[in-house]
Amino acid sequence: MNTDAALKVAVVGGGWAGLAAAVELAAAGAQVALFEAARQLGGRARSVQVQGQTLDNGQHLLLGAYRQTQRLMAIVGADAERLLKRMTLDLNYPSEGFRLRLPRLPSPFNLAIGLLAAPGASLSEKLGAVRLMRALQRCDYRLGEDCSVAELLDRHRQHGSLRRLLWEALCLAALNTAPQHASAQIFANVLRDSLGGSRADTDLLLPAADLDRVFALPAADYIRSRHGQIRLSSRVEHIAHDGGSLAIGDERFDRVILATAPQHAAKLLAAHPATAPTAALLAGYCYEPIGTLYAQYPRELRLPLPMLGLDDGAAGTLGQWVIDRGQLNGAPGLVAFVLSASGGWDEMDSAQLLAALHRELEDALARKLPQPLWHQLISERRATFSCRPALPRPAAATARRGLWLAGDYVCAGYPATLEGAVRSGVAAASGALRDQPAGQ
Ligand SMILES: Cc1cc2nc3c(=O)[nH]c(=O)nc-3n(C[C@H](O)[C@H](O)[C@H](O)COP(=O)(O)OP(=O)(O)OC[C@H]3O[C@@H](n4cnc5c(N)ncnc54)[C@H](O)[C@@H]3O)c2cc1C
Repeated sequence: MNTDAALKVAVVGGGWAGLAAAVELAAAGAQVALFEAARQLGGRARSVQVQGQTLDNGQHLLLGAYRQTQRLMAIVGADAERLLKRMTLDLNYPSEGFRLRLPRLPSPFNLAIGLLAAPGASLSEKLGAVRLMRALQRCDYRLGEDCSVAELLDRHRQHGSLRRLLWEALCLAALNTAPQHASAQIFANVLRDSLGGSRADTDLLLPAADLDRVFALPAADYIRSRHGQIRLSSRVEHIAHDGGSLAIGDERFDRVILATAPQHAAKLLAAHPATAPTAALLAGYCYEPIGTLYAQYPRELRLPLPMLGLDDGAAGTLGQWVIDRGQLNGAPGLVAFVLSASGGWDEMDSAQLLAALHRELEDALARKLPQPLWHQLISERRATFSCRPALPRPAAATARRGLWLAGDYVCAGYPATLEGAVRSGVAAASGALRDQPAGQ
């Protein structure tokens, strides 16, 4: 072990999980070296240049329930009040005449009153939705045996608009997996922490600054200010288990936190017999895409809310949400259409998608719109792991002492989200700090 007082830790991967781990380690006085293969930090939640503007690689939505994310933002000096636009939950589908808007009342009255007042759903649907939440609360959100979200909703006789526009839409938004394939247990966990949490937990937090500035850049500044190193364009090809220690190239480390996406972790873990079973587990994962189609309309276009739902009940609706970036940090008239999980959209080209989404927005606003001045599709093929029922997830501790895992897929109770990534980084850092040195 490093004989200096400071523990020497390598973090492999500079997404939100790796950054969260590095921040926690640096805060605890460890000597951190963060290796990132790309030329920038942020991983699947990063800024990109599009048409001369800084945009996000994909539109991200956060929830008030993302507590660890907000805690770490505070540690690194990223002002959540300024960088995230906090709104009470407002699911508005104009073309369906449906709107669920939670009033500013303490939980659970906000949900109960919001549901009962929602236009566009029948009384029996509303009472059914309240019964589902109460049933989940009664079993402490533990389902016993996992099943699909669709089965859970069938079992609790959820139907009509509320099933489609509340439960199924939340399932897609949070798990990025279609309800017939998505894990009901993970969905229940998300409901526990959001709709079942405090009033503030139900809030929507929309990034009101470039995604890099929300966390990655302030986190990097913080790590450097604590004598940590950020090594960009540094792909780790191999983690050597040399006798008692762990090494990257010819550098030895007391601990290594592997914070890459599962498919990249699998490659590094497969090289060693002790961690090969975890690699085999991860090699079996399936993935879901997310598309973001940016469209720049004339600057006069302003949506009635920063975020609208697009489902109009017609078979073949492609978009899930449309976000008015002009009301956040974007140019006036710039909107982002969100396309979740595998579906009809992922085989279409960007011109076809634009035509369909433009029509969906016209339907939502009930008026003709001018054609956008430009558009750009960003499609992330492996945006998230597919969050299937009873999907086995590895623990943060590996079979190799000193080697820890972080990444959205490691946070067992959560789907692939920023909060899951951050929580996993925090857990890996705390394990690494408690751990015995590599080789002991
Ligand atoms: C388009 C899109 C939209 C999304 N929307 C939302 C949303 O609205 N809300 C939400 O909460 N979540 C959302 N997510 C999910 C969220 O972005 C991810 O769950 C989270 O960013 C994962 O972080 P991570 O650190 O676990 O992994 P990653 O971000 O994948 O980070 C891993 C890093 O490791 C690096 N790396 C890989 N191999 C190596 C190596 N050998 N050596 C060094 N570095 C390596 C990679 O370059 C990468 O930077 C979205 C994701 C996408 C793609």
